[in-house]
Amino acid sequence: MKYIDEFRDGAVAKELAKAIARAADHPRGYNLMEFCGGHTHAISRYGVADLLPANVRMIHGPGCPVCVLPIGRIDNALELAARPGLILCTYADTMRVPASKGLSLMKAKARGGDVRMVYSSADALKTAQDNPGRQVVFFAIGFETTTPPTAVVIKQAALLGLDNFSVLCCHVLTPSAISNILESPEVRELGTVPLDGFIGPAHVSTVIGSRPYEFFAEEYRKPVVIAGFEPLDVMQSILMLVRQVNDGRAEVENEFMRAVDREGNLKAQDRVAEVFELRRAFEWRGLGSVPYSGLRIRDKYAEFDAERRFALEYRTVPDNKACECGAILRGVKRPQDCKIFGTVCTPENPVGSCMVSSEGACAAHYTYGRYKDMN
Ligand code: SF4
Repeated sequence: MKYIDEFRDGAVAKELAKAIARAADHPRGYNLMEFCGGHTHAISRYGVADLLPANVRMIHGPGCPVCVLPIGRIDNALELAARPGLILCTYADTMRVPASKGLSLMKAKARGGDVRMVYSSADALKTAQDNPGRQVVFFAIGFETTTPPTAVVIKQAALLGLDNFSVLCCHVLTPSAISNILESPEVRELGTVPLDGFIGPAHVSTVIGSRPYEFFAEEYRKPVVIAGFEPLDVMQSILMLVRQVNDGRAEVENEFMRAVDREGNLKAQDRVAEVFELRRAFEWRGLGSVPYSGLRIRDKYAEFDAERRFALEYRTVPDNKACECGAILRGVKRPQDCKIFGTVCTPENPVGSCMVSSEGACAAHYTYGRYKDMN
């Protein structure tokens, strides 16, 4: 297939692996965090980590939208799903995230709640148009990639004068999460998560551009390489990061030039700015409450805000005690460090959020990496 096979070529991967090994032929270690769950998935699926020298370590970051959703937000969605007549629409993975009392949206559906899986925010809007006598709520999650389509449907709902459509907005922001990781005690004081550089997200960067990462490079002296999601993209970006570390450089480089530029998608950014504003703080699973890291719907579109329409209150709910998702999302632990990984907690029966989506570190390791633990 054109434009895919070229980025999965085994012979090129071997050459890149040799180049990384040569560049990293040094007594020091190279601890690189891939922020995005898409990269975590690619690294596990294509065995990229197996091609790296022992001193180049990949650390999984918190960039999986389902994984960082705290239990309290799913509980809000469950509260809505329990309302007679209400239709709750959301993306597929969100339906399986464990919430309080062993519930999930999937289980709420089994108990009679009208919870519907949608492929896009437009599907949710269409559901509202098709069901004028019922309230329809779109449970919107995700990073900057999924935020513009949510903004568009809110604007469309306003134009159409729909009074039965609203959005439970749980959109979060990548740069705030990276700042939080770099400010965390584990990185700053304890040194338990030494970070030498970041692989920057692919799809998110098509929207926000490469400019927002310049702050991290300058302020924290951490190199960033924005990378595509194919295995050769990831390997090339690792090579670029290792070279930056060797040279003592901390710059933003763009490996994913075929889709990302410095400014990003200005039209999408305008739509988002028109509909959303920053929340003072938003709770993330694993990172806790992170200042200015989430979005809420502006007053101008308040009637489409499900939190206000249904007077929802947010409550912090602790994770299952056995689950190590918090530590995994901060890069402090690995999936195989969790005592119930692969036994009690599996993709069929996820106990924590990192086992739900294929972008979650636990699900990726369960699917592609377990054989190494057995050997
Ligand atoms: S294996 Fe399951 S319980 Fe353990 S950290 Fe991962 S998601 Fe949480």
